[in-house]
Amino acid sequence: MSFLNHKNNQEHTLPDVFTAVKHGVTARQVAEMYGIQVNAHGMACCPFHDDTHPSMKLDERYYCFGCHASGDAIDFVSNLFRIRKREAAVKIAEDFHVHYDPKGRPGRGQPVTLEQKKEWEMRQLQTDFREWRGKALSDLNGDYRILTERAEQNAPTDRNAPFPQGFVQAFNDRTLVEFYIGLLETAPRETQINLYLHDCAAIAALHDRVNGRGQPRTTVREKLEEKKNLLKAQRDRAVNQQQRAAI
Ligand SMILES: [Zn+2]
Repeated sequence: MSFLNHKNNQEHTLPDVFTAVKHGVTARQVAEMYGIQVNAHGMACCPFHDDTHPSMKLDERYYCFGCHASGDAIDFVSNLFRIRKREAAVKIAEDFHVHYDPKGRPGRGQPVTLEQKKEWEMRQLQTDFREWRGKALSDLNGDYRILTERAEQNAPTDRNAPFPQGFVQAFNDRTLVEFYIGLLETAPRETQINLYLHDCAAIAALHDRVNGRGQPRTTVREKLEEKKNLLKAQRDRAVNQQQRAAI
C-alpha cells in the first residue's frame, strides 16, 4: 500500500479550507456524521425534501432522485444547517480534524503535502471499506439463508447412497460463507481491511454463484425481484404443506 511507506516530505504548506475539505471528506461521511442514516447501498432519505423512502445517493458527492439536490460535502452541510459555504467548510474541517491554512485562499494553488495526501487516501480507504463491509455482510447473510434452505432441500434420504451433489455444493459453499461472515464480524479491523483488499472479488464471485449468476453485477430491481421470488416460493411451499396436511 503506497501510503504506508513514503519519504518524509519537506513541504509544510497547508491547503486552504475548501481544498482540504473537498479532498479529505466525502458527502457521505458528512451525512453520516450529522445523523443521516445511510444504508449499505449508499442511499438515504433526503433531508432536503419530504422523503419517506431513501431517494438520495451519497458517495463522494450526493444526488437526490426526488428533488434533484446535488453537490459535495460542503454543499451538503451548507444546505443542511443553512450556513454559508465557508462556515460549512470550517465546520467540516473542525469536526473531521482536517488540517488547513486558515489564511489560505482557494485556487491559489497551495501545494498539497504528502502528509495530507496520505491522510486523504487513508480516509478514502476507510470509507470504501466501510461501504463494502456493510454490503458484503448483508449479501453473505442472505447467501447463508439461501444455502441452508438449499442444503435442506437436497438433504440425503438414502443412507447407503453417496451424498447428492446439490447437498455437497450447498454445504461447502455455506462453510465458506460462514467463514467470511466470521472474519467480518470478529477479526481485527486490519484483517478485515486486508480481506477487502484481496478477497472482495472472491466474495462477490461466491455471492453470484450462490445466486446463480455468472455476472458480478446486480441491480436493485433484480435484488427486489429475487426477494419477491424467494417469498413466493416460501408461500407456495407453505400452501403445499397445508394442502398435504389437509389430505
Ligand atoms: Zn431530495
